Amino acid sequence: MTSTAHDYDLIVLGGGSGGLAAAFRAAQHGKKVAMLEPGELGGTCVNVGCVPKKAMWLAADLAGRIGLARAMGFDVPLRPALSWKELVVHRQGYIENIHVSYRKRLDETGVVRVPRRGRLVDAHTVECSDGVRLSGEHILLATGAHPQRPDIPGAELGLVSDDFFNLCDAPAQVAIVGGGYIAVELAGLLQALGSRVTLLVRGGRLLDRFDGELAAQLADNLCHQGVRIQFDYRLRELQRDDDGQHVRVLGHDGPLDSVFDTVFFAIGRRGNSTDIGLEQVGVAVGDRGEVIVDEWQDTSVPSIHAVGDIGGKVGLTPVAIAAARHLMDRLFGGKPDAKMDYENVPSVVFSHPPLGMVGLGEEEARARYGEVRTYHSNFRPMLQALADGTQRSMFKLVCVGAEERVVGVHLLGEAADEILQGFAVAVKMGATKAHFDDTVAIHPTSSEEIVLMRG
Ligand code: FAD
Ligand code: NDP
Repeated sequence: MTSTAHDYDLIVLGGGSGGLAAAFRAAQHGKKVAMLEPGELGGTCVNVGCVPKKAMWLAADLAGRIGLARAMGFDVPLRPALSWKELVVHRQGYIENIHVSYRKRLDETGVVRVPRRGRLVDAHTVECSDGVRLSGEHILLATGAHPQRPDIPGAELGLVSDDFFNLCDAPAQVAIVGGGYIAVELAGLLQALGSRVTLLVRGGRLLDRFDGELAAQLADNLCHQGVRIQFDYRLRELQRDDDGQHVRVLGHDGPLDSVFDTVFFAIGRRGNSTDIGLEQVGVAVGDRGEVIVDEWQDTSVPSIHAVGDIGGKVGLTPVAIAAARHLMDRLFGGKPDAKMDYENVPSVVFSHPPLGMVGLGEEEARARYGEVRTYHSNFRPMLQALADGTQRSMFKLVCVGAEERVVGVHLLGEAADEILQGFAVAVKMGATKAHFDDTVAIHPTSSEEIVLMRG
């Protein structure tokens, strides 16, 4: 029984990170829910994003550790052969287990799963791709986003991140266009798994949402790993090489000297907002294909809401999940003030080593608060030192005000992805530098450096 005159209390379009989280939470509040998903459960994150990417990153990380092990005296070959196919079997097995657990949970919670694409007909009606119409008191758009291609001649010769997960081996020569999350992650892991990577960045730096100093150190790390980076690169065209196999990359200043087996575009994503009836129903859409939502995840139509990548705010899985849960708690859980807090969202780029941040970068903090105080630690982690490695870690704190509230924690180094979460709690709680100083270090670790920084 629904609590309204409609078939369902909630209809969700999309069974990815945001859609699933919303469906489960609404069902937990005793609501009748239908979730439309034409593809695999789990959406981008599970199928062509975080999860398979992390599997490949872990393999690349192991490749690096094998090198360190050799340097420390283990009798292992310099470049042990990797069966990419076997790695993919493990990766896909892990993903299939996630599918199974989602299916089980949907059944247990009574969410009706409709394996169809949906389209809005009016403020309370969705038409499934088989023509069946469903009505809902509330409709949630959680249709995600897709990778973009540049508008240049030969763009069809390039691949996007979705295609990366279809590879059966490391391509020998790879060019990656872009300087954001995906470009950096693919560059690092492909280089570690045997490709020769060239990164083509249109701006003067990598990862412009991250602190400039650490991003510069990350670029240095990539270069040490053998990645060639061209900044201020203006791409003009891709052409099929005369051999019919390779791709030639032409910039506004001429062709690159090598040809490539594979060219990836990693130039951002655009919301899946076309052909879902938004215009017809009057849901406002922005320039990047994002559905415009307010701080409550409400669209311009009161019964229609949106979370996750389609909302175009912060394109991360935990953000889609948190926004969905808050929204469901507000609509169905008796919490009228529940809403997502987009401040202090921690984020990690899975480079080698990873780069993590929570809060504000130095430049951002200066723009917001005027005066800031920063603390740095630049050191060689123990494993690198033992193995005569050159890789250094760089940590940075950004503090503001007389009490030196820590408004930014930036970590580039071994295990930064694992270390950051706890410090994200501290930043969220408003910790000051004095709290960090008063915390006893854990020795010998990299993370102790964060509480041992002195001005
Ligand atoms: P999605 O997960 O994309 O789900 C949308 C779903 O909607 C899809 O399953 C789609 O089939 C379905 N759909 C589309 N149209 C319709 C329709 N009309 N009707 C019904 N269903 C429809 N984030 C992190 O936090 N950490 C990471 O390490 C990370 N790595 C990433 C790596 C890559 C290569 C990529 C591409 C992304 C990565 N992300 C990462 C981002 C993360 O995957 C997304 O932010 C997250 O998946 C967004 O969730 P969502 O629910 O908004 O959309
Ligand atoms: P990003 O927004 O991170 O980066 C896009 C990059 O492409 C920027 O360097 C941008 O340059 C450049 N660019 C944009 N248009 C062009 C163009 N026409 N020609 C050349 N370069 C161009 O997007 P990604 O595709 O890397 O990733 C998409 C999103 O997925 C991320 O923003 C993130 O939200 C999520 N993600 C998260 C991950 C994680 O949490 N670890 C991993 C992977 C993805 P400029 O700066 O000059 O605009």
